[in-house]
Amino acid sequence: MSQVTSRTVRAPRGTTLSCRGWQQEAAMRMLMNNLDPEVAEKPDELIVYGGSGKAARSWEAFDRIVETLKDLKDDETLLVQSGKPVAVFETHDRAPRVLIANSLLVPRWATWEHFWELEGKGLIMFGQMTAGSWIYIGAQGIIQGTYETLASLARQHFGGSLAGRVVLTGGMGGMGGAQPLAITMNGGVGLIIEVDERRIRRRVEKGLCDRWTADLDEALRWVAEARRKKEPLSVAVLGNCADVEPELVRRGWTPDVVTDQTSAHDALNGYVPAGLSVPHAEALRAKDPQEYVRRAMESMAVHCRAMVDFQKAGSVVFDYGNNLRGQAKEAGFEEAFAYPGFVPAYIRPLFEEGKGPFRWVALSGEPEDIHRTDEVILREFGEQNEGLARWLRLARDRVPLQGLPARICWLGYGERDRAGLLFNRMVKTGELKAPIVIGRDHLDAGSVASPNRETEGMRDGSDAIADWPILNALVNTAAGASWVSVHHGGGVGIGYALHAGQVVVADGSENAEWRLAHVLRTDPGLGVVRHADAGYEHAQEVARERGIRMPSLED
Ligand code: NAD
Repeated sequence: MSQVTSRTVRAPRGTTLSCRGWQQEAAMRMLMNNLDPEVAEKPDELIVYGGSGKAARSWEAFDRIVETLKDLKDDETLLVQSGKPVAVFETHDRAPRVLIANSLLVPRWATWEHFWELEGKGLIMFGQMTAGSWIYIGAQGIIQGTYETLASLARQHFGGSLAGRVVLTGGMGGMGGAQPLAITMNGGVGLIIEVDERRIRRRVEKGLCDRWTADLDEALRWVAEARRKKEPLSVAVLGNCADVEPELVRRGWTPDVVTDQTSAHDALNGYVPAGLSVPHAEALRAKDPQEYVRRAMESMAVHCRAMVDFQKAGSVVFDYGNNLRGQAKEAGFEEAFAYPGFVPAYIRPLFEEGKGPFRWVALSGEPEDIHRTDEVILREFGEQNEGLARWLRLARDRVPLQGLPARICWLGYGERDRAGLLFNRMVKTGELKAPIVIGRDHLDAGSVASPNRETEGMRDGSDAIADWPILNALVNTAAGASWVSVHHGGGVGIGYALHAGQVVVADGSENAEWRLAHVLRTDPGLGVVRHADAGYEHAQEVARERGIRMPSLED
C-alpha cells in the first residue's frame, strides 16, 4: 500500500525564493517541512503522523506539487485531490494559492474497508489533520495541547498540580510522544506503554521522555519512588497496552489518571494487536490484513475494558481523541463510553471563545524569529492571561525545536487577528528575518464535526452535523487564506469526522495584511458562532461583546 522511497526532504530556509511569491513559497516549504525526517514519523512512506497520515499521495505527486508551486502565479490556484495535484486555475491575487480535499467519501461509502480498497488502487490518501494540509509541526504542537489538557484536569481534580500523581497512558508516536514531557511539565509522574522500541528511543533521545525499560516491575519501582518523593518523572515501558493494562488491573495497581494515544483510529495501520511484536505485526498486516484488523479490534476492546476498570477503581479516565472507545464498542464492548472525551471534560469552555491551538512557523528557519514573536505575544496577551504567559516561558526552555522553528498557543476571537497583524508588521519592518506562516490544528472550535471528539456531547445534540466544517472552509476561502483544506477522518478515523483547515502567511505585504485581518476573524469567529448556535451562553456573550453578527440571535 505504502510507497517506500528513501530520500531526504528538508524545507529551504532564509529569504531566497524558489517560487514566484511568498504565499506559494510558504506552501512549498510547509509541505517539505511535514516530510523533514526530524518532523515526520515515516518520511520514506510520506507518512507524517497519526497512523498513516500523509503529506502527498506518492513521491511523483509530491514532485509535481513542488514543481507546480514553483511556477504558480500570484493570481492562480492549485487544486490538490487527496495528495495529488489535479488542476491550476486562474483566480485572483487575494484567493488561496492552494485548495486541498483529502480522504473525502460519500457518507454511505465512508468505511475503512472502502478507503483501503481505493487507496490500494492509488486513488485516495489519508490526510489526518495537519499532515495532508501541510501545517504539522511535530511534537512542538501537541506538547502544548497535552500540557493544557492535563493542567485543566489537575485544576479540576487535584488542586492544580500533578505532583505526586501518576498518569498512565499508551503510545509514543508523533502526537503521543509529547505525553511524557507534558506530564512532567505539570509536575506529575508518567508511565507510558509503547510497543515499538524505536519510537521510545527516539523520544528519549529528543529529551521528551526521561527513562525507559522493557521490564514492567522496574518501571513500577521507578514510578513508585518518584510518586513518593513527588518528583516529576516520565518512564516508558516497552509493551502492548492490551497486555500491560489488564495485567496492572489484575495486580490492583491504580494510577491517578489514565488516557491513551495509540493510533486506535486505524485498526490496520495504527494499532498493534496484543501478543505481537512490531515485526510480527508487520508480517501479519502484509499477509492477512483481515485477521490483523480482527485481532486489533479485539485488543482494543480489552484495552478499553482495562481503562473502564481503572475508572471503577478510582482513576480519573478520559479519552484523548483517538476513538479507542468507538472501536471498542464496535468490537462488542458495550461499556466503552463509560469515561468522557477530553473535549467535553476539559476543552469546551475554551472553544466557546473560539480558542484552540493557534500556531506559527518561522520560514527563516531561525529560532531567534520565534523568540521575537514569543516576546510580542507575552507583551500583548501575557498580562491578562497568566496560563499563556507560563506556557510561553516553559516552551522557550523545554520544548525542543523540530524542523522549521514553530510556536503554538491558544488564542481566541479578537486575539488571533491582532497577533497576525503584529507579525506582519514585524516582517515588513525587518524585525523578523523572513515571513511567518500562521495556521492551526483541525482540533478546533468551529471547523470540525467529530461526534467522538471535538463535537462530543454538544448541548443541542448537533454533534454529527457537518455543515460547520464546510462553512469554515468556504468562509476562509472567501476571506483570503493562503491555503484551505477539507478533510475526512482525522484523529478518529474514516466515517467519524469531517474537518477543515486554513493557513495564512504574514509576508509583510498589504495583500497579506488584508488576508490576515479577514481570515483570523472569520476562522475563530465561526468557532464562537458554532457554540453560540448550540446554546452555550458564554459563546453567546462572547459573540455579543466582541461584535460577531448572528442574525438568528438578534432581537
Ligand atoms: P502514531 O501512529 O505516530 O503513533 C501511535 C503509537 O502507538 C505508535 O508509536 C505505535 O507503535 C503505538 N501503538 C500502537 N498500538 C499500540 C499498542 N497496542 N500498545 C502500545 N503502543 C501501541 O500516532 P500519533 O500521531 O501519536 O497519534 C496517536 C493518536 O492520537 C491517533 O489516533 C491520532 O489520530 C490521535 N490524535 C489525537 C490528538 C489530540 O489532540 N488528542 C491530536 C492528534 C492525533
